Amino acid sequence: MTVANPKMWLKPGREKSLRRQHPWVFSGAIDRVEGAPTTGATVEVIASGGDFLAHAAYSPTSQIRARVWTFRPDERIDAAWFRARLARAIESRRKLGMFDAGSACRLVFSESDGLPGLVVDRYADYLVCQFLSAGAEVWRSAIVEGLQALCTPRGILERSEGGARHKEGLKSERRLLLGEAPPAEIEIETHGVRYLVDLEGGQKTGAYLDQQRNRKRVGAYAPDAEVLDAFAYTGGFAFASLHSGASSAMLIDSSAEALQLAERDAARNGFAGRCAFVEANVFDELRALKQARRQFDLVVLDPPKFVHSADQIPQGSRGYKDINMLGLQLVRPGGVLATFSCSGHVDAALFQKIVAGAVVDSGRAAQILERLSQPADHPVATEFPEADYLKGLILRVH
Ligand code: SAH
Repeated sequence: MTVANPKMWLKPGREKSLRRQHPWVFSGAIDRVEGAPTTGATVEVIASGGDFLAHAAYSPTSQIRARVWTFRPDERIDAAWFRARLARAIESRRKLGMFDAGSACRLVFSESDGLPGLVVDRYADYLVCQFLSAGAEVWRSAIVEGLQALCTPRGILERSEGGARHKEGLKSERRLLLGEAPPAEIEIETHGVRYLVDLEGGQKTGAYLDQQRNRKRVGAYAPDAEVLDAFAYTGGFAFASLHSGASSAMLIDSSAEALQLAERDAARNGFAGRCAFVEANVFDELRALKQARRQFDLVVLDPPKFVHSADQIPQGSRGYKDINMLGLQLVRPGGVLATFSCSGHVDAALFQKIVAGAVVDSGRAAQILERLSQPADHPVATEFPEADYLKGLILRVH
């Protein structure tokens, strides 16, 4: 006997976004749920007229009440299905040449890889997973087995943390899922620079992999430059710049742990004599540098996310404008500002407008030399523009 999947019936007219293959079903779109699905269970999403729309994972406590696994009625969501999706994501990174031994990249980027709620980062021989939705959570062991078979890592860690998990009614988890625990720090290499990464204690899954390519791009402006790396974390932009011939770099971050790691990275890469490490609030420190009449040839601003929801856009925009005004004032005439936003709610057009306002209000003139975005291991599925979150501008500042 086959047991029918539970069914989620939508209200009339509420199937439009699913027909365009957008993978989220919001609670307000649902007419009724039949078959008493458990948390994370696969449901069939059905249009009010009775057409099949998708197989999706049920998240009873989230506003995003279901996340689509597939729009194809004939696909069965089981361990083999997960293995195939994982294989597709991993193969894509292999084709991008991102699998060098000792390197790091994002292997699975959630909705963008057709696996809503799952993030997998590879750091050399270790994988770090985040299960951020009820659906990803219930398929955890199938996912871990699939990753093991496809990548044969030395160990797989879980770091399922943060607000997204909370909204799904899940508690934070940080633990070893399979294989060997990694050492307290492992080394990865990016564009010729070696970094120590603390997979268990570091921010995110240990590092900001989304900025790997942009660090190299910014480094192209660094020969002979005095560099200011504001919101440095473990100094990715500073070290890429020093590797490209910068004369010095000042790193500012509020995290003492991040700066300690950065100091050791500097020594290991032979940069120690050219670095200064400042543990401070960037807003305060940039004001102090201005007062001290310090200037730099290259200023990098890579702040944390200021805007977490649409209602925070006005306040977050002011934050971006303030920090950019402070940064601009420290750029020597003819120098470069590389400025970023990782707030998905602030799109590239708005970010450019905010930066343009900061240029005018700080009495400078600037030209956009390059626009930066997220790298190919953080792809954006065309039907899911929400994944497009990282933007940056490289400006010549007069
Ligand atoms: N540029 C980094 C990533 C930066 S993430 C890289 O390439 O790896 C943002 C960083 O800003 C985090 O390291 C966090 O500790 C730091 N941070 C957040 N708010 C801050 C503040 N007000 N002042 C200083 N640092 C801050």
